[in-house]
Amino acid sequence: MRPRIAIPADTLTEATNIINERNAAFAPRPLIEAVVKSGGLPIILPSVDPQLAVNYLPLFDGVIFAGGADVDPTFFNEEPHLKLGMTYRKRDLFEIALVKEALDAGKALMGICRGMQLINIALGGSVYQDLSEYPHPTLKHSQDAPGNLPSHHVSVAADSRIFKLIGQRAYVNSRHHQALHKIAPSLQVTATADDQIPEAVESIANDWVLAVQWHPENMFKHYQYSQAIFADLIQRAKENK
Ligand code: MN
Repeated sequence: MRPRIAIPADTLTEATNIINERNAAFAPRPLIEAVVKSGGLPIILPSVDPQLAVNYLPLFDGVIFAGGADVDPTFFNEEPHLKLGMTYRKRDLFEIALVKEALDAGKALMGICRGMQLINIALGGSVYQDLSEYPHPTLKHSQDAPGNLPSHHVSVAADSRIFKLIGQRAYVNSRHHQALHKIAPSLQVTATADDQIPEAVESIANDWVLAVQWHPENMFKHYQYSQAIFADLIQRAKENK
């Protein structure tokens, strides 16, 4: 049996004239394909009452917190910054509950972009709500290049899990206007861009969390080191079964 990889859904908040598409739960197709190609079975979880999150645990072995809207800053005790993007509190509530339940159950977690920020916030960290809040000028992290092509490099800590997957220095894509600020106590930064913006975090005490600020699901077909991140999740999901 393939490891089952849950993907908490994004929500299509823009109204269409088809009533059944309003607030439709969806997952990015490239992410689904990356999971299948890497040996997992993807399962999409709609956002529901966070108290129900625990009921999903028997259905999956690993979970990917995917990209999407900004996390509501009230979850890290801040009011909205002028440059905060769209937020959708219902997804945040469900995913924060699912992070905690999944970790309590020893599941393998992966985070992508917003997903890395969400995991950090769920575990007690925070983000800069916009890169203009960062204490010094940054690189361009909202690339205008096509999303399946890399645009900036990351440097990787030698003793980290991700080092074994992507090496000491990797060329990655970048589509974020926020960045990790306070790092959650149970996480450590294991890759940074040359402006010191965190680009990957991992759990300190175990191998349960590996999250990246970039989008490997848009690069996995042509960049082996992007697929390696998914293969690692599948492996961790197998071990934690
Ligand atoms: Mn970046």
